[in-house]
Amino acid sequence: MVAMTVVVDLDGVVWRGDRPIPGSAEALDRLRAAGRSIVFLTNNSAPTRAANVAKLESFGVKASPDEVRSAAQAAALLVEPGERALLCAGEGVREALQDRGATVVAEGEADVVVVGWHVEFDFDRLTVAMRAVLGGARLVGTNEDATYPVPDGVLPGGGALLAAVSYASGARPVVAGKPHEPIVRLLKEQTDDVELVIGDRPTTDGLLARRLGVPYALVRTGIVAPGEPVEGKAPDLDEVDLSAVVDRLIGS
Ligand SMILES: [Mg+2]
Repeated sequence: MVAMTVVVDLDGVVWRGDRPIPGSAEALDRLRAAGRSIVFLTNNSAPTRAANVAKLESFGVKASPDEVRSAAQAAALLVEPGERALLCAGEGVREALQDRGATVVAEGEADVVVVGWHVEFDFDRLTVAMRAVLGGARLVGTNEDATYPVPDGVLPGGGALLAAVSYASGARPVVAGKPHEPIVRLLKEQTDDVELVIGDRPTTDGLLARRLGVPYALVRTGIVAPGEPVEGKAPDLDEVDLSAVVDRLIGS
């Protein structure tokens, strides 16, 4: 029998910045003990797979590299092997592009510019990315999250950087991450028996669930605060945190 798979977002669900969200590691253990497979699916394209696994393990969550998928790998699906890809993103995107067989360049002409969240983004990087797009490169964004949750609030998200490159170049990007088609394709390479999507952002995690035709569980440990109204379709489960979602799914 194939195990049912639960798709679990990372930022705002398992951790917030460099702090684990209390109860999450134990909840994931219970999920596995109940026979569920887990795919960690994040729109944060900056960390490498190994970095995500190491962070999970540092918070007491066992995970294999195969279980962790990000918008970096989804973006790489939009790049052909052998193409020159200008990196305007973090190391996770470099890794995914190299795994794909693309040639990663830092400046100059390119076939495609890939924009993702990275704290080194600055005016020079914006200029390089803009010029490559003006020179004919396609514009790909790993994700379009406006913000990124950290312990003391939010930071600008990957979508904010993508918007700058898009606006400066006049090009409309193709976006790879949740809830868009490339990451759906990436997920389907791994599993076709998703039972539930758990995430803190209705516009990405919730829409992904709808696209997959499965229920969506909102957790209020990230972008949406406890008590805050949710715009659009109401989530199927609306719980304070991951532990409470797991209680509802398999019993406490
Ligand atoms: Mg999140």
